[in-house]
Amino acid sequence: MSDLLRDRLTSISGFGMSAQEDGYCFRPTHPEQVREIFEIARTTGRKVVLRGAGRSYGDAAILGEALILDISRMNRILSYDPQTGVVQAEAGVTIGDLWRLGIEDGWWPPVVSGTAYPTLGGALGMNIHGKNAYRVGTLGEQVLSFTAITPSGSFLTLTPDNPDFYRIISTAGLLAVIVQVSLQLKKVQTGDLDVLALAPRTWQEQFDMFRRYEPEADYMVSWVDCFGKGSQAGRGVFHAAWYQHGITGAGHTLSLTHQDLPDTLLGFFPKSIVWRFLKPLNNRIGMKVLNRAKDFAASTLGNGKHHPQSLVGFSFLLDYVPNWRNAYLPGGFVQYQSFVPKEYAQAVFARQIDLQQAAKCESFLGVLKRHRPDRFLFSHGIDGYSLALDFKLTSKNRERLFELAHQMNELVLQAGGKFYLAKDSTLRERDFMQSVGTAAIAEYRQAKEHFDPEGLLSSRQAIRLGLSRSSDLGMF
Ligand SMILES: Cc1cc2nc3c(=O)[nH]c(=O)nc-3n(C[C@H](O)[C@H](O)[C@H](O)COP(=O)(O)OP(=O)(O)OC[C@H]3O[C@@H](n4cnc5c(N)ncnc54)[C@H](O)[C@@H]3O)c2cc1C
Repeated sequence: MSDLLRDRLTSISGFGMSAQEDGYCFRPTHPEQVREIFEIARTTGRKVVLRGAGRSYGDAAILGEALILDISRMNRILSYDPQTGVVQAEAGVTIGDLWRLGIEDGWWPPVVSGTAYPTLGGALGMNIHGKNAYRVGTLGEQVLSFTAITPSGSFLTLTPDNPDFYRIISTAGLLAVIVQVSLQLKKVQTGDLDVLALAPRTWQEQFDMFRRYEPEADYMVSWVDCFGKGSQAGRGVFHAAWYQHGITGAGHTLSLTHQDLPDTLLGFFPKSIVWRFLKPLNNRIGMKVLNRAKDFAASTLGNGKHHPQSLVGFSFLLDYVPNWRNAYLPGGFVQYQSFVPKEYAQAVFARQIDLQQAAKCESFLGVLKRHRPDRFLFSHGIDGYSLALDFKLTSKNRERLFELAHQMNELVLQAGGKFYLAKDSTLRERDFMQSVGTAAIAEYRQAKEHFDPEGLLSSRQAIRLGLSRSSDLGMF
């Protein structure tokens, strides 16, 4: 083995732990080192896979035998103006770093994912959305400019008036390495949101609630009980939330101590061990009971009530229980999120859940969101809704689950819908190609030839979806 790679062998997986690969990990601290890593790839005849915090669920940030270019140590804030909320940061800065930087001056990241761990580079590689996607779109739409390094070593600084801006963001790290980002943060008056909880009993009520609150709410999200059948299909808990304005004496809500998630549940139970209690329940029967209990509590106790909730508590609900994904061990889990135009979303999602129930392969969690279209090359944005689903993976259900995913894909494609690379483990090349369309694929291939003619940037997902070739350094 080359001396350049010695001692760098590392095993990495996607967040869902269902796919794992061994590669050679490099963690640069300076853009110049990024160039050197591409040189090492050439010398050793290997591909390069980009990786941020590894929060993509499937195989987008892994590749066997490749050089793993992990940008998480390039994590300096380069400039920050507390008056304007403009921040310039290296791409390894996380969403968590950003909210901590700005909150005490009344600035909040304009788009956040359901976890605070993603890096800016990884978040733009996928072009993440938040619970406000229908209102402000994706993270890429909030970027003022970014700097990227191409595999040939050129530095590009791009603003939204340049078509390459829309190509490098959203294409899953296959064209260039984003190294710096300039972003406009969102002004907030207080650190709490006003949250309304409602308990839709049917699919019809779910969609009626989204339509009712879309013109006025700043955020909307709904949980769906995927075990609900017949007249109860589609039941769940809908949340609409508003920024609060003009509230006197609310300054303390902008403090870090107000925002930080507690380490314990109910004030005494260490959250770090909660996943161990979830594990024995993490099966069809246990999850059916838990979903039912959550639904009962929501429809009786909290229905129709407003309550204040911190921005962090509302936004990063999934960070409440550390290591919750370990409850899915040993097989891990697959997240599946499809995006369907608004006219067909209700019918498609209802049918997806019928199919899961028929296959005895129900998702343990269902999350419904509203979106809007955007102009990024591999955009998942659509004038419609998405349903995100978590499926436990075992050696017994693997084949059944993939078959189910393919059936669900068919419904999405018939409705003119899309998929999201950050949440994908099961797509076939033809599904992805059909969802983004031949024009986008042709544009991608042209950009790939331009930025990465040797085909150095790759991933296991890119090979699965025909966006990169596995065999040699030539691209197509
Ligand atoms: C609990 C949880 C909740 C989530 N909630 C949401 C949500 O609400 N909305 C949402 O949109 N997503 C959500 N996600 C998905 C997550 O936001 C995305 O997968 C995001 O891309 C992860 O960022 P990362 O830094 O971990 O990147 P990684 O997962 O490491 O990489 C993501 C992609 O970006 C590429 N990449 C990495 N670094 C760079 C770079 N510097 N330049 C160019 N490309 C790069 C990688 O090759 C890969 O293809 C969630 C994930 C989890 C685990």
